[in-house]
Amino acid sequence: MSHNVLLLPGDYIGQEIIPEAEKVLAVVATRFGLDIRTERGLIGGAAVDAEGFPLPASTLEKARAADAVLLGAVGGPAYDNLDRDLRPEKGLLRIRSELGLFGNLRPAIMYPQLVDASSLKPELVSGLDILIVRELTGGIYFGQPRGIREREDGEREGFNTYIYSESEIRRIARLAFEMARKRNGRVCSVDKANVLEATVLWREVVTELAQDYPDVELEHMYVDNAAMQLVRAPKQFDVMVTGNMFGDILSDAAAMLTGSIGMLPSASLNEKGEGIYEPCHGSAPDIAGQDKANPLAMILSVAMMLRYSLDCAAGADAIEAAVGTVLDQGLRTPDIASDGCQPVGTVAMGDAVVAALNAQVNDNE
Ligand code: NAD
Repeated sequence: MSHNVLLLPGDYIGQEIIPEAEKVLAVVATRFGLDIRTERGLIGGAAVDAEGFPLPASTLEKARAADAVLLGAVGGPAYDNLDRDLRPEKGLLRIRSELGLFGNLRPAIMYPQLVDASSLKPELVSGLDILIVRELTGGIYFGQPRGIREREDGEREGFNTYIYSESEIRRIARLAFEMARKRNGRVCSVDKANVLEATVLWREVVTELAQDYPDVELEHMYVDNAAMQLVRAPKQFDVMVTGNMFGDILSDAAAMLTGSIGMLPSASLNEKGEGIYEPCHGSAPDIAGQDKANPLAMILSVAMMLRYSLDCAAGADAIEAAVGTVLDQGLRTPDIASDGCQPVGTVAMGDAVVAALNAQVNDNE
């Protein structure tokens, strides 16, 4: 079976990390007998430069035809003064909504080799492996009505609408339960049901759905407590599921537990299991063009793509193991540098992952 993968490098370091992902994907495809066809497209500032829009129709068409999309990052100072509608980030928001990517998966995994990079004590984070499942296309970020208006007394007020339908809640919760089944069988649903009616319904629907998953243990937690628990005792969590805004905040906090943003992949999935796979970081203009970007978040995004969209869990495992190997070898890009380790650049890190993948084959022969 063949798979079409669209590569969207985007801007700044996006242009440097996508080629590393491509190298890794090619090795895995050969080894696991996958027929993967890649093509490139434009998004973000690169698309504005070439075609005048951050998401050209041709890119959207290619993305719709693809089984999965690998995206670098968009944005940067060259584009900060463009009109709102032409900003690179608009391209990203639009492609996510056009593809119906309602489920954002953000793992926070602590590699034992990087335990000193965390802002928390090693004993709190060593062995950490959390998956945050964030609803991505609903909630207060999209709810209507919204705006800034002037009241009769002349004072301005800003307002937004926090709204979730039962079906929106059910579909994201189902994704979380399914993920928990493949992991350690626990879901923590995060809400603010003591204050917000929208999340009273959230809690009800998640509780109902839990009956379909008797093998998964469900716990509910208020978001303020969840934030506290994440920095107090993060290892208590397996899968956390929550709405758009709470997920935005909690997933960034969880990300920092692991030390470097250069290590964190993400996936955004639709109901057909198609998705966009991208690192959690941005386009890092401050280090672009200097061979300093850590390509591992991008490479780990390839692993997520293999697992969730291309049905090749063995390929995903192989990539994750290869990343472990290069860290064991002491190779470090500047963002994860530590005493006694070997400094490497973007390309050398990508090459090392490829070499580690090839060595796995030799070891198995
Ligand atoms: P950023 O994530 O690009 O950078 C924050 C810091 O982390 C910088 O010091 C950067 O050098 C470092 N960093 C990020 N990725 C790294 C990597 N792979 N290896 C080593 N170091 C890395 O965030 P920012 O500086 O706030 O934003 C820069 C631009 O990226 C902005 O235009 C922003 O809008 C955009 N952005 C895009 C996305 C996306 O495409 N999904 C996400 C966030 C920000």
